[in-house]
Amino acid sequence: MGVTLDLSRASASAVTPQAPTGPINLAGLTREGIKAALIAGEACAPDKAKMRTAQIWRWINHFGVTDFDCMTDVGKDVRAVLADRFVVARPEVTERQVSRDGTRKWLLKFAPGVEAEAVFIPGVGRAGALCVSSQVGCTLNCTFCHTGTQPLVRNLTAAEIVAQVQVARDDLGEWPSPAEGRQLSNIVFMGMGEPLYNLDAVAQAMDVVSDGEGIALSRRRITVSTSGVVPQLEPLGTRTGAMLAISLHATNDELRDQLVPLNRKYPIAELLAGIRAYPGLSNARRVTFEYVMLKGINDSLADARALIQLVRGLPAKINLIPFNPWPGSPYECSDWATIEKFAAVINKAGYASPIRTPRGRDILAACGQLKSESEKVRASTLRQASQAEPLAD
Ligand code: SAH
Ligand code: SF4
Repeated sequence: MGVTLDLSRASASAVTPQAPTGPINLAGLTREGIKAALIAGEACAPDKAKMRTAQIWRWINHFGVTDFDCMTDVGKDVRAVLADRFVVARPEVTERQVSRDGTRKWLLKFAPGVEAEAVFIPGVGRAGALCVSSQVGCTLNCTFCHTGTQPLVRNLTAAEIVAQVQVARDDLGEWPSPAEGRQLSNIVFMGMGEPLYNLDAVAQAMDVVSDGEGIALSRRRITVSTSGVVPQLEPLGTRTGAMLAISLHATNDELRDQLVPLNRKYPIAELLAGIRAYPGLSNARRVTFEYVMLKGINDSLADARALIQLVRGLPAKINLIPFNPWPGSPYECSDWATIEKFAAVINKAGYASPIRTPRGRDILAACGQLKSESEKVRASTLRQASQAEPLAD
C-alpha cells in the first residue's frame, strides 16, 4: 500500500498559539507564570509575589477553585484586585460523552476553531488514565490514525494541556487532590498530536500537574507516547522524567515507512539507539512499545518473532493495540485468535504483552480515533506551516 507524504505540512514546532486576548487566565500556569502575571498586572508588590503565588497556586491546583472569592486566606481587597485583572477559567466543553464501559470523552474548545479531545479510561493504570492531547491535529500522517487525517491546526499551550486534567477532575468530582483513592491516577500523552513536537508545553504541563502542592501526580505515572522523534527523546527524559512509550507498529523499515512516515526520517535502528540512551531506563522503568494489530499487514508470527529480536536487551513491555477503525479507515483489525497467538509468542520470549482492550469504541474515544472538526483559521499559520521544515525523506 502506498503512502503520500504531504510536504506542505510543518514541523509543528513552528506553529505556536497566538497570545490570548482578554484577562489572563491563571489556571494551568506554572508557579513562575502566576508570579510573573501578578507582578506584571500590578496585583501585588514584587516582595509579596512569592507568598501570594503560593496561596493562589494551592487554591487553583489543590482545591480546584475557579472563583477568587473562595480564596479565603487572601484578603478581600486583594481578591477584588485579582478578580478585576485575572480569571481562573476552564475551556468550554463543547461535547461530553460517556461510553457504555465508563470511558468519558470531552471535546474542549480552546479558541475559535481550536478544539481537542481528552479521554478518561477507568481501570487503566493504577486506577484510571486520562489520555490528553498535545496538539490540535498532527503533522505526521500515520496511515492507521484518524488524527493523522487532520492537518495540524496548532500546538496546545501548557495551560491548555493542564486544562484537560482540570476538566476531567471537575467532571469526576476529584477536588481537592485526594491523598489516596484517586480515580484519575495516570496521564498518558496518547491523544491528538505528537507530544515531542511540542515538548516545551508538554514539559511545563508536567511541572504543573506533578507539583506536590497541587494535582500531585507522580511523573512515574505520566507516560509520553511518541511516533519516534529521536532527537527529542533525551530532552524528554532529562526535562520531565516521564515514562516512555514508542509507537513501533512494524519491525522493518519498509513497512514502518508506510505506516509511520516519520520512519523515513528516523529509521528503526536510529530509534532503537535513541531509546537505549533514554535517561532513567531500567527494569523498574521500562519503555513500552505500542504495536497496532493490522490484519494481514503486520500480524504474522514471523512479525512477532522479529519484534522480539528488535527489542532484545531492552527493558521493555509490549502493548498490543487492536486496530480501532474510524470512518473511511484503510485497515481492518487482526482477528482475535491471531492477536492471541501473536501475544503468546511474545510472552514466551519473556516479555509482558498485554492486549489493550479497546475502550470507548462506541463514542469513538479509543486510541487513534480522535479527531476534531477544528479548522486552520489563520492565514499566517498556514504560511508558517508551508515555510517550515517539511517531513522529508
Ligand atoms: N503521536 C503519538 C501519541 C498519540 S497516538 C504517537 O503516535 O505515539 C497514541 C497511540 O495510538 C499510538 O501508539 C498510535 O500509534 C495509536 N493509534 C493511532 N491510531 C490508532 C488506531 N486507529 N487504532 C489503534 N491505535 C492507534
Ligand atoms: Fe500523529 Fe501519533 Fe496519529 Fe501518527 S499516530 S498521526 S504521530 S497522533
